[in-house]
Amino acid sequence: MDVNNTLLTGVKPNQDGSRAATLRTRRGEVQLPTFMPDGTRGVVKSLTAEQVAGTGVQVVLANTYHLHLQPGEATVKKLGGLHGFGKWQGPILTDSGGFQVFSLSKLRKITEEGVTFKHPVTGEMRLITPESSMQIQLELGSDMIVAFDHLTGLDETEGGKTLEAFERTHRWLERCVTEFKRLTADMPASERPILFGVVQGGLDLELRRKSLELVQGSDVGGIAIGGLSVGETKEEMYRVLEFLSPLYDNSARPRFLLGVGDPPDIRYAIEHGIDMLDCVLPTRNARHATVWVEGDEKIHLTNAKFTEDTEVIDPGCDCYTCANGYSRGFLRHQFKVGEPLAGSLCSIHNLRYLTRICEEYRS
Ligand SMILES: [Zn+2]
Repeated sequence: MDVNNTLLTGVKPNQDGSRAATLRTRRGEVQLPTFMPDGTRGVVKSLTAEQVAGTGVQVVLANTYHLHLQPGEATVKKLGGLHGFGKWQGPILTDSGGFQVFSLSKLRKITEEGVTFKHPVTGEMRLITPESSMQIQLELGSDMIVAFDHLTGLDETEGGKTLEAFERTHRWLERCVTEFKRLTADMPASERPILFGVVQGGLDLELRRKSLELVQGSDVGGIAIGGLSVGETKEEMYRVLEFLSPLYDNSARPRFLLGVGDPPDIRYAIEHGIDMLDCVLPTRNARHATVWVEGDEKIHLTNAKFTEDTEVIDPGCDCYTCANGYSRGFLRHQFKVGEPLAGSLCSIHNLRYLTRICEEYRS
């Protein structure tokens, strides 16, 4: 499918190992590199679509697992699909549901067919397969979708499990590609979502190399790097990213690192060839009064030293919150009394902080 090799245009390598490019999606262009906040349940927590767009964010990620369980993809579709539902009009990327099935479900059984798990609310048993993951993501109306993979690293560090997961991930990828083609056969190329294949292999570099080769050899539009930031050390994660960086092929496909959002990690990943990242970190930190300031430092606004601080979060920041003069003292007070506006204002700041990092690599 030639269309998969023309998704990126204007690819400009920088001396630091990063690259700038434009990604074409069915919902318009995305300037890379880019950070994508997690709109877990269809919205970025505590923010309207306009507030998210105001930070410079271009793509929002939604979680297939959560939306499948509640309210269900059929309901989301009736409410206008993800774009009509949460009113975000830019491109939306959905994950496969795999990460949550593996990380949140205590009772799960992995077979060749898929993963059976217990619904956390109703208690009924559910099965997600590579095919149903494709169906759910398309039903949700996602513009970029991710293949269903077997994640390791959360509690399975033995080599045997990693190898088994690696092999299964690639058998599942073939099934995802087949199902994706079946579901999108009647769509014009310009209206098809982009399918990302996922590179696994844990911390085993040889498995990572083979996994990348298999994903790059598949009929997918994007390369996703999974199974990192799941409990390993930063050094271990950096070692995998550094190892992979010279192995990416020259196809015009975006590279997406799942689940990484700490500013130094974002810089490291981008300087090792990554184009797209997502994480709950900026908004979750913000709701807990933790914000980034110049130099990637973190400050905790509930600290008593900010009680009478008239300064904004970061005087050099151009976000809505800082530009409008909301002081550290004001925010501290609102956090102390449980006013949700404080979390929203800090989410805006943190998203702008990460988006600005990405913008530096584009210019
Ligand atoms: Zn700010």
